[in-house]
Amino acid sequence: MNATSNPTAVEKVVIIGSGPAGWTAAIYAARAMLSPVIYEGAISEENRLAGTLPLGQLNLTTEVENFPGWPKGVMGPDLMMNMRTQAEHVGAKIITEDITEIDLSRRPFMMKDSAGQTIAAHSVIVATGASANYLGLPSEERFKNMGVSACAVCDGALPRFRGKPLVVVGGGDSACEEGTYLTKFASAVHLVHRRDQLRASKIMAERALANPKISPVWDSVVDEVLGDDAQGVTGVRVKNIKTGETRTLEAAGMFAAIGHTPNIKFLNGQLEIDEKGFIVLQDKFRTTTSVEGVFAAGDVADSTYKQAITAAGMGCKASLDAERWLAAKGIH
Ligand code: NAP
Repeated sequence: MNATSNPTAVEKVVIIGSGPAGWTAAIYAARAMLSPVIYEGAISEENRLAGTLPLGQLNLTTEVENFPGWPKGVMGPDLMMNMRTQAEHVGAKIITEDITEIDLSRRPFMMKDSAGQTIAAHSVIVATGASANYLGLPSEERFKNMGVSACAVCDGALPRFRGKPLVVVGGGDSACEEGTYLTKFASAVHLVHRRDQLRASKIMAERALANPKISPVWDSVVDEVLGDDAQGVTGVRVKNIKTGETRTLEAAGMFAAIGHTPNIKFLNGQLEIDEKGFIVLQDKFRTTTSVEGVFAAGDVADSTYKQAITAAGMGCKASLDAERWLAAKGIH
């Protein structure tokens, strides 16, 4: 980062990320008169493909039935927009850019955003969440945007998938949710899972398996995504890992729903992370990280619960932790 940058203002707290953790932190920090600045992420094709557009993973989902306060459920994008509106209403300053670089070795902390602006802050809350994993096959990479996706809600309604068979890979809640959602458009959904039992919660698993359009393909992995430049995806080759047998499933699309990886690249190794890449909290009841004055909340620091409500709770804790830390430093 340009060491000669000399921003005039030093923010008390900068929040990076705009899922439930980021917005909750922003609401609490604004009400504590900390004038928080929240970087909600840039609206770019790169972020769209990576699943890191503003408003986080809930903005890519459908109905949320387990966020308290919504007895009939709420659509994920509506919930996120409400959180954003609430944060803005109480005075958070929202910037629609990514933080691309950060220097935690100096005080105040220095950051650079995707518009090239430099920002200085006394404290930082990292709430950048996690983004969808892909299988890592070259053929999968080749057909991204041509039938390969990791977001049914974003892409499922595209004309290319209408009335066609589709493949969803994975056995967790995401795979069940995405598979169920895709039955609105697809003629059939093959749920390809590497074991013979779903990891998903009972209610989600039962709902998916009871859907007449969904057929599980147990003990199987996708070996190769098949297709051509004109049509994109035309099928996938699956391999049964118990028998070694391969077969081709005809499909106009493949949706990966195989878990998520924390969004920590911009940190460039400056915070302690665990073996899966999650930020390590120094005290299990707080949001402190390995750098004093930097706090973490939500999926970027949670490999266990990964729920909207737990992320929101962590965002609240991070704001209170930052407020107390700033007060102890005499910054109000
Ligand atoms: P997850 O629970 O980690 O499940 C990932 C699935 O992908 C597992 O079935 C796993 O197989 C499989 N998998 C992982 N790597 C693979 C690979 N390389 N090849 C093939 N299969 C692979 O992830 P998730 O479903 O995204 O859920 C994450 C969290 O979000 C969970 O806590 C979940 O409860 C929550 N969630 C909640 C809702 C909701 O309540 N509405 C919706 C979506 C997600 P194994 O089972 O063999 O490990």
